[in-house]
Amino acid sequence: MGLNTRWTATPNAVYVPDNPAQIAPIVQSAVTSGSRLTVRSGGHCFENFTYNADVKTIIDLTNMKGIYYHSGLNAIAVEPGAILLDVYKKLYRTWGVILPGGVCYSVGIGGHVAGGGWGWLVRRNGLIIDHLYAVEVVVVDAYGKAKAIVATREKTDPNRELWWAHTGGGGGNFGVVTRYFFRSPGATGTDPRNLLPKPPQKVLSSFVAWNWADLTQADFNRIVQNYANWHVANSSPTSPTRNLVSLIQAFHKSNGQFLLLSAVDASVSNAQSMLDDYLAAIRNGVVATPFVAEVPQPWLQFAEQTGTTNALLNDVTLRAKYKSAYMKSAFTPTQLNGLYNALTRADINNPKINLVISPYGGATAAVAPSDTAMPHRQAALKLLWSVQWPDPADDALYIGWARQSYQETFSETGGMPVPNDVTDGCYINYADVDTRDPVWNQSTATWHDLYYKDNYPRLQAVKKAYDPRNIFRHGLSIELPS
Ligand SMILES: Cc1cc2nc3c(=O)[nH]c(=O)nc-3n(C[C@H](O)[C@H](O)[C@H](O)COP(=O)(O)OP(=O)(O)OC[C@H]3O[C@@H](n4cnc5c(N)ncnc54)[C@H](O)[C@@H]3O)c2cc1C
Repeated sequence: MGLNTRWTATPNAVYVPDNPAQIAPIVQSAVTSGSRLTVRSGGHCFENFTYNADVKTIIDLTNMKGIYYHSGLNAIAVEPGAILLDVYKKLYRTWGVILPGGVCYSVGIGGHVAGGGWGWLVRRNGLIIDHLYAVEVVVVDAYGKAKAIVATREKTDPNRELWWAHTGGGGGNFGVVTRYFFRSPGATGTDPRNLLPKPPQKVLSSFVAWNWADLTQADFNRIVQNYANWHVANSSPTSPTRNLVSLIQAFHKSNGQFLLLSAVDASVSNAQSMLDDYLAAIRNGVVATPFVAEVPQPWLQFAEQTGTTNALLNDVTLRAKYKSAYMKSAFTPTQLNGLYNALTRADINNPKINLVISPYGGATAAVAPSDTAMPHRQAALKLLWSVQWPDPADDALYIGWARQSYQETFSETGGMPVPNDVTDGCYINYADVDTRDPVWNQSTATWHDLYYKDNYPRLQAVKKAYDPRNIFRHGLSIELPS
C-alpha cells in the first residue's frame, strides 16, 4: 500500500534490498520470468504507479537510505529510500550543506528527484535536480538484459541523456535508480562542504492567518492576486527577493483557516524590511485583519517544523486526490472565481481540503527549459489542489470536488492549465491521470504537453535507448516513439 490508501497491490513478491548491487539481479529475474515490475522508494506517489492490480513484483527501496561522500564521482551519494528529513539532517550536520528539496519530511528521494523536487529553498537555490551530478540506474536493454549504468551531466558522457531524463522526466520511466549523486554546477575542489549550497544560518519565519469568517470574496481575490502579482514581478534569478519564500495554504471554508507562511534568509542585510514589504504587498487592499506571528529560527528547525507538524502530510490512513498547475502571470477573473468556489462550496464539509499556492521564479528561472527535463522555468508560481478523506464511500464526492473545481478554474482553456502566456502546464511529481482523460482534458494540450512541453520527444528518445521493451511503465509514463 502507498501513503495514499487508495493505492493497493497484491504482488507475488516484494523485494526489500539493502544495497545498490542487489537490484540488477532482482530486475533480471522479474524480466526473465515476465513478471510485471514496479519500484517504490518513499511511497508518496499521487497515482497508482507502484501499487496497482497488474503489478506482480515490487522492489521496495525503503531500506536503501545511505547518504555519503563518493570520492570516485566527487559527489554526495544519496540512496533512493532516504527520506527528505534524513537527507536534510545528514547534509546539514555533517557537511553544513543543503539540497533544495520538498517540504514534506517523509517523501522519498527515489521518486522526488526524478520528478523535479520543489521546496522551501526553490527561489534561493532552485530545484533539487539543479544540483544533480549523476544517477546510477539499472536499465533493461533490447535483449532483456538488466545492467547498471552511471550517467553524469558531463558533456562528454555517452550516457548524458539518461542523466538529463532524470532531471524532471518523472519516476518509473527508464529503470530503477539505485543512487543519485549531487554536486552543484560550478562547485570546485573535493571537500564535500563545498559541493552543495550552504543553508541560511537562520530564517525569519512568518505566519499570517485569516479567519474565513472574516474574508469576503473581494478580500480572497485581493490576497491571491497580490500573491500572484508579487511573484510575477519578483521572478528574476538576480532579484534580492530570491531570499524570500512564501506560500498560501488556503483551507476549505469548513476548516476556517486561510494561511500565509513565509521565510526570509535572516543573514541578508535587509531581511526584516524585505519581509515587511512583502507582507504589506500581500495585505494591500485587504479589509480583513489576520493573526500575525514572526519567529527567528535555525534553518533546520524551520524545515523540520514545517515538514512534520502538518498532519495532512503525515497521516497514513487517508485517501487522497491532487491536481497541479503552473502560472506564468496573474489569475484571470474566471480562474479566481474557480478557486474561490472550490474553497467555499457549501455542499461540502471537509476541513482537510486545501489549495496550496506556492512560489517559483528566482534561481529556477536561471536554467533554460531544455537544460533539464523539467521545462517550466518561466513559471512564477504553482498550485496544488489537495483533498484527503478516510472513507472509500466518499471517493466520488471528493475526487469529484477536485475534478469539477479544477475544470471550472481552467474553463477558458478546456479544463486544463495549457502552456500559454498565463498558465504553464502541470508538475509531474503531482501526477494526475485525469490529464489524459478526454472527459476532463478538453483542451488543445495533450497530457505530455502539460507535463513536459517541448522536452517530450527527447524523453521519448531516451526511453527508446534505455527501456526499449517498455518494462518501466505506468499511467503517465513516457511512451516509446511511434
Ligand atoms: C504528503 C506529500 C507531500 C509532498 N510534498 C512535496 C513537496 O514539498 N515538493 C515536491 O516537489 N513534491 C512533493 N510531493 C510529491 C512527491 O515529490 C512525489 O510524489 C514523489 O514522486 C514521491 O517520491 P517517493 O519516492 O516518495 O514515491 P514513490 O511512490 O515511491 O515513487 C513515485 C514514483 O517514482 C517511481 N520511483 C520511486 N523510486 C524510484 C527509483 N528508485 N527508480 C525509479 N523510479 C522510482 C515510482 O515507481 C513511482 O512511479 C509530496 C507528496 C506527498 C504525498
